[in-house]
Amino acid sequence: MSIAPLIDNHGRTLSYLRIAVTDRCNLRCFYCMPEQGIQYLPKKELLTFEEIERLVSVLAGAGISKVRITGGEPFVRTDLMDLMQQIVQVPGIRTLHLTTNGVLTGPHVPRLLAMGLASVNLSMDTLNRDRFRLITRRDEFNQVQDTYRLLLESGIPLKVNAVVMDGKNIDDIPLLVELTRHHAVEVRFIEEMPFNGEGSHYVRLDWTYKKIQAHIESLFGSLERVPDPDSATATRFRVPGFKGIIGIIAAFSRTFCGACNRLRITPRGELKTCLYDDGVLNLRTLMRDGCTDEELLAQIRHAVSHRHANGVEAEQHRRNHERVAESMSTIGG
Ligand code: SAM
Ligand code: SF4
Repeated sequence: MSIAPLIDNHGRTLSYLRIAVTDRCNLRCFYCMPEQGIQYLPKKELLTFEEIERLVSVLAGAGISKVRITGGEPFVRTDLMDLMQQIVQVPGIRTLHLTTNGVLTGPHVPRLLAMGLASVNLSMDTLNRDRFRLITRRDEFNQVQDTYRLLLESGIPLKVNAVVMDGKNIDDIPLLVELTRHHAVEVRFIEEMPFNGEGSHYVRLDWTYKKIQAHIESLFGSLERVPDPDSATATRFRVPGFKGIIGIIAAFSRTFCGACNRLRITPRGELKTCLYDDGVLNLRTLMRDGCTDEELLAQIRHAVSHRHANGVEAEQHRRNHERVAESMSTIGG
């Protein structure tokens, strides 16, 4: 297997793979799915665990060293933990990460710790049960809170993801910042993107990264800048004297594309070289048609060598030029 790294046509080395293992979910977050849900993929169209493991091995042979499991909600897929256990053992994979809504996650925390999971991103847009019900259209607030506590106690590095939604969770911003006062947690505020199965909720995004930062500073005073790891999407800060970190992610404004090191694989096996493209290669079809590992990797390298410079360009070049409107649960964030 080749060991040449995956380098795109803009000189960016790809080392990070995000795999959405399902499009199904047990919540219906306002910013991600319509209330009635989306038309889920038939099970036979989902990548099997064997296919996912094969892709991870092939990509690890080309320099992918960090993997994130996401969805949909990863834990609605039976035996997810077995898949994760396999992935941490793939030679070349240095860190495995998980993004989850926390509803079914709690009981798995000890095993996640034991396998050496590098971090969990827990989606928690609000600390209020009524607002949780309004945002997610489900009454699972207590389970998510329990998972938050268990994760904190476990010592697995923890990030909290909160999408900032006008008229929905603005009152939670200070409460979420407060989580960083005594705990080494990273709370990340994310600009809302139009990946909700319907199209944009706003004529113009009001809660941009700049406004989020200004709002936090109006409540907590000037924030200290904290250095960002390479290829980070979050710009990181700290309230002086607080233990944890605040991240602000310009997901809609797309300020971070120049250092992007990510590949994505969707539940149906589409390779995405940008969050905003609509899939550049179907890996599932290639595998089911009998492609060898070398042929797979050659096709992936070809896709990577035609990568868009940034998310604005990728969105403009979508097939039929349609704007993004698919549910984030079909991409994984
Ligand atoms: N179900 C899991 C969860 O919610 O953590 C994993 C999948 S979810 C699609 C991954 C991340 O994408 C979550 O943190 C979620 O908040 C974020 N997300 C979903 N739709 C979004 C949108 N329209 N704009 C910004 N972030 C979004
Ligand atoms: Fe489900 Fe996550 Fe989308 Fe919410 S953000 S509907 S939890 S996939």
